[in-house]
Amino acid sequence: MRILVTGGAGFIGSNLCTRLVKQQENQIICLDNLQTGSLQNISELMNLPNFEFIQHDIVDPIILTVDKIYNAACPASPPAYQADPVHTLKTSVIGMLNMLELAKRNNATLLQFSTSEVYGDAQVHPQSEEYWGNVNPDGIRSCYDEGKRAAETLCFDYRRMYGTKIKVIRIFNTYGPKMNSEDGRVISNFVNQALRGEDITIYGDGSQTRSFCYVDDLIEGIVRMMHTPDDVTGPVNLGNPGEFTMLELAQKVLEKVPCGSKLTYRDLPKDDPKQRKPDISRAKVLLNWEPKVSLDAGLDKVIKYYRGVHIRMDNGSVEAYATSSEQWSGDCQHRISG
Ligand code: UDP
Repeated sequence: MRILVTGGAGFIGSNLCTRLVKQQENQIICLDNLQTGSLQNISELMNLPNFEFIQHDIVDPIILTVDKIYNAACPASPPAYQADPVHTLKTSVIGMLNMLELAKRNNATLLQFSTSEVYGDAQVHPQSEEYWGNVNPDGIRSCYDEGKRAAETLCFDYRRMYGTKIKVIRIFNTYGPKMNSEDGRVISNFVNQALRGEDITIYGDGSQTRSFCYVDDLIEGIVRMMHTPDDVTGPVNLGNPGEFTMLELAQKVLEKVPCGSKLTYRDLPKDDPKQRKPDISRAKVLLNWEPKVSLDAGLDKVIKYYRGVHIRMDNGSVEAYATSSEQWSGDCQHRISG
């Protein structure tokens, strides 16, 4: 089985590659333009005989022989996808077209990584797949939201026109190891701010809600979706229905990393959704899937991971990262420069 993972050096993509290479019969081709992904995320996979990395931007066509395609390529953090919004839109639309053409040519199954952002600033709560969403077409989030919506449309049109085997998942907020500490998203920000003893940045009044899924749970749902029969196309929501305000999240982080950080308030970014929580009934029925890792347990894991990243950045040694995080006692120090 030749499996292509686009965005395979990114946060979710690299966790997926790590899972897929464990099956020796799988040959994994990891494609990434390294815009937000990093070789560090796949360093432990690079020497495996069933893993291959190609630096490539899916906006440019590519011809490969593959059986399955996981299309995860796209910057997903608001600061990252807003840095070059035109390229973000190209990734979702032109990149999607290129991957659908590749799937069609190979008669491969393509699983598209869509997003809860297709629901925009939702007026229905929780969000089920039937909800069409409330998206600003002209705002600063539109390059991501509208791009991902158009990508879904392309998937279903390729299926209707050419019978291409497609599957669409809508991923809600996800966190875990390999999310870049400078990514700009809320859990990586709060945990790293707390570890450095810096103030926790609350955008707006902190009453907005999100539902956070630990990455291992998400990967399990993704792989199950890929293994469904051809007539199961989705869209299927994948996320953890536990819903928290950003103030509640900050409180949890402060309890776990008691470095005396205070809360500091910043402007709420434009079009920031007020509440988000997945209805995962469809995933339960189709995939027999639901998340198992609570936010508390997941935060403990991710705090341990970021402590390891601090060590790695201090002395540049990956070995120290792997072995010393248990004994780490460097909390509350301003350790990361730049
Ligand atoms: N947020 C925050 N402080 C931060 C980063 C984010 O309060 O340092 C808020 C942000 O405004 C949003 C929520 O946390 O309401 C989740 O933001 P994130 O960027 O993680 O994901 P998304 O907005 O795409 O759901």
